[in-house]
Amino acid sequence: MQKLTPYVPGESDPSDSFIKLNTNENPYGPSEKSLRAIRDVLGSQLRLYPDSDNIELKKTIAKFHQLEPENVFVGNGSDEVLAHVFRGLFKKNEPILFPDITYSFYPSYCNLFGIDFRRVELDKKFRIKMDSLVCQSGGIIFPNPNAPTGIFVDVDHIKSLLNNVSSNCPVVIDEAYIDFGGVSVVPLVAEYPNLIVTRTLSKSHSLAGIRLGYAIADKNIIQALKLVKNSFNSYPVDSLAEAGAIAALNDREHFLKNCGNIIANRSYLISKLEKMGFSVLPALGNFVCARLEGVDGALVAEKLKYKGILVRHFKTPERLSGFVRITVGKMTDCQTLVSSLKHLFSP
Ligand code: PMP
Repeated sequence: MQKLTPYVPGESDPSDSFIKLNTNENPYGPSEKSLRAIRDVLGSQLRLYPDSDNIELKKTIAKFHQLEPENVFVGNGSDEVLAHVFRGLFKKNEPILFPDITYSFYPSYCNLFGIDFRRVELDKKFRIKMDSLVCQSGGIIFPNPNAPTGIFVDVDHIKSLLNNVSSNCPVVIDEAYIDFGGVSVVPLVAEYPNLIVTRTLSKSHSLAGIRLGYAIADKNIIQALKLVKNSFNSYPVDSLAEAGAIAALNDREHFLKNCGNIIANRSYLISKLEKMGFSVLPALGNFVCARLEGVDGALVAEKLKYKGILVRHFKTPERLSGFVRITVGKMTDCQTLVSSLKHLFSP
């Protein structure tokens, strides 16, 4: 069997005994309307298979983005959507490109599907070097904001990239964290048939547990993704997920309030960390990537774990090993984290 390099997710906490700031979950619950919709399905429809095309959900997503349902593909979390994108859209005649510091599932998918890839080094300030992304036909992918740095690339730079690469080059922008202050490139899908934008309800809609992600793209691309999906699993989005997602997307008020809370808590966290001497990368996701000069990130993570707080540390690449990635929690979580760090690392 071929040698695989699986993605390693952050530690889970089945006993619910930690303040869990290690997997970029949203601390505020989902919309009440979403929970009610899920309960209604539980009460009635579980006997039946879900709609394999999830048409009501696609209509809702299309309305959310002012597009057509034919521009929408849905899957079991954006991880699954990304897997189908890698399998179905990236060509094998040229390596695909992604940043050297980015979502670590990308190389795992390449490995699984036998796709050649090249990592493009971030600049000294951990920004994506957009000029280095030169592509004829292989493909380009990066999260925006990037993960785990949190650094955002603005729409104009992505537009220039799309103008510079060949129209045969699929450009995938993974917008898992876009709703916490970034500006989406979804409106560019109408102009660029090689642009694919992926999204998730795991972060800004607080629904990581139902596993719902989607892609927005030109309808020919969506057709290609459907072929891959229907060759693998007819029903990746179950009835509970579909109902919960539709209600969550329709509850705009809850969504905006939730994102606003995270953005406010992020500002608080950054200012406190900086006061303590941490360097914090410019953050536009629901997490911050921070480093205390001279202290290894692994040590910070380990000491915080003893204090009952989980944060994420990445051993590789080397340049990241000084950092920890901290999910923005509720205000009380941020305050507990800050006082623990003061306790541990203040002179
Ligand atoms: N993209 C990025 C950049 C992520 O960090 C994550 C979360 N681990 C995902 C996609 C996948 O999210 P989900 O499968 O929960 O939709």
